[in-house]
Amino acid sequence: MDFLPIFLNPHAKPCLIIGGGPVALRKAELLSHTDAIVTALAPAFHPNFEPLVRSGKILLRRKAFDSSDLKGFALVIAATDDTSLNATIAHSARKKGLWVNVVDQPELCDFIMPAIVDRSPLIIAVSSGGRAPILARLIRARLESLIPANFGRLAELAGRFRSRVKQVVPNSKERRRFWERVLQGSVGELMLAGQTTAAADAMEATLDSIRDGDLPPPGHVALVGAGPGDPDLLTFRALRLMQEADTVVFDRLVSAEILALVRRDAEKIYAGKARSEHTLPQEQINHLLVRLAKEGKRVVRLKGGDPFIFGRGGEEIESLAAEKIPFTVVPGITAASGCASYAGIPLTHRDYAQSCLFVTGHRRGDQPNLDWNKRVVPQQTLVIYMGLLGLQEICQALIRHGMAPDMPAALIQSGTTPQQKVIIATVSTLAERAREKNAAAPTLIIIGEVVKLSEKLSWFQSQEKGGEK
Ligand code: SAH
Repeated sequence: MDFLPIFLNPHAKPCLIIGGGPVALRKAELLSHTDAIVTALAPAFHPNFEPLVRSGKILLRRKAFDSSDLKGFALVIAATDDTSLNATIAHSARKKGLWVNVVDQPELCDFIMPAIVDRSPLIIAVSSGGRAPILARLIRARLESLIPANFGRLAELAGRFRSRVKQVVPNSKERRRFWERVLQGSVGELMLAGQTTAAADAMEATLDSIRDGDLPPPGHVALVGAGPGDPDLLTFRALRLMQEADTVVFDRLVSAEILALVRRDAEKIYAGKARSEHTLPQEQINHLLVRLAKEGKRVVRLKGGDPFIFGRGGEEIESLAAEKIPFTVVPGITAASGCASYAGIPLTHRDYAQSCLFVTGHRRGDQPNLDWNKRVVPQQTLVIYMGLLGLQEICQALIRHGMAPDMPAALIQSGTTPQQKVIIATVSTLAERAREKNAAAPTLIIIGEVVKLSEKLSWFQSQEKGGEK
């Protein structure tokens, strides 16, 4: 080990940064997150030092360095662009018994500054001992994507309950298991979702149940939006929950590539539902989620797109709430956003559309939709989910209610996936073109002037995705 990792308490320690350029600025910004007393010394400073000075985080001394400047400091960082000056600073600092860091010259360093992942109070430091800082930064980037942004909150919660848990669970082995369950279970999940009060309540309930010698506390359900198909469009949170889940209940719309990212040992339950094969009726899905959670499982209810857009997510959480099962909802990229981007159709545009309406083309029972006239609005993009079956009827109704028959219209099939197909036509020809091309679900229909822009904007996506036009 060339360098020993230690975490320094910089509280009220006088630190000197020598240099006024961008490198010195980065060090100054980093130190300004601590409560060290920071002075920067240089003949001139980058303008971005100004906000740090104004917020009282740092003091500037405008002068050239000489060794008497080191007096009174505990820590020195040499960050000038002159390597021989940096070396001089290092030698004088060392002679005075100060700890010194020389930027980019590890051989002159008493300490080096690692790449950090800051989830305060949790800090992860990565160092290559100055040999390959870029490698350390790459590892840091990976960790950043792996560790939820709010992870520090878990550490805070653990800190708050630490002594009480010790009283209630005196055995250290049992306590370790308890914490594992709490941090990976509903308490942890609520905390990560920013539901601090609910997390604290769940924690109290867990402690109570242990005191009463009760059954393990209920599990947790996360309603997770899996996006429109491309696994790259998952959120970090979605991916993490999929990898921690005991059970995943998924829809037909969730792509195989996305399912492949679920933890291998997790139980996977298919819940349907194509129009023709209602595998599990909605009510049964609601019951299933409640039952699994009551068994103590970490359940992920994986839904295509966003759970709250034509996803019946509202109904599923109603039954969870009624049964007091802790749950969180993780938004996903809805089909409209995904398909529009990948087909090069901006849903709004300064010149063509100032509003955008999402509607479902699926009818409840046999009731016809009566409000088509509300949908024919100038400068508005109309996005129709579940519209393939009624496409002809919908388009005719729009024209009947005043839409120009040559209004541009697009049908996007399996948007964002390698199988994406885009049909561009007009509102009067789209249904026929869809029939000719054997369009099949899932399809999204976009109607409005903005569709014209797809020619201009879609070339690179279709090439990148190998999509067919
Ligand atoms: N909650 C989902 C929508 C569920 S309704 C969301 O936010 O996207 C199901 C409808 O969504 C499908 O009938 C289709 O109209 C649309 N859809 C979902 N994924 C799609 C995709 N990859 N390409 C085209 N349409 C899609």
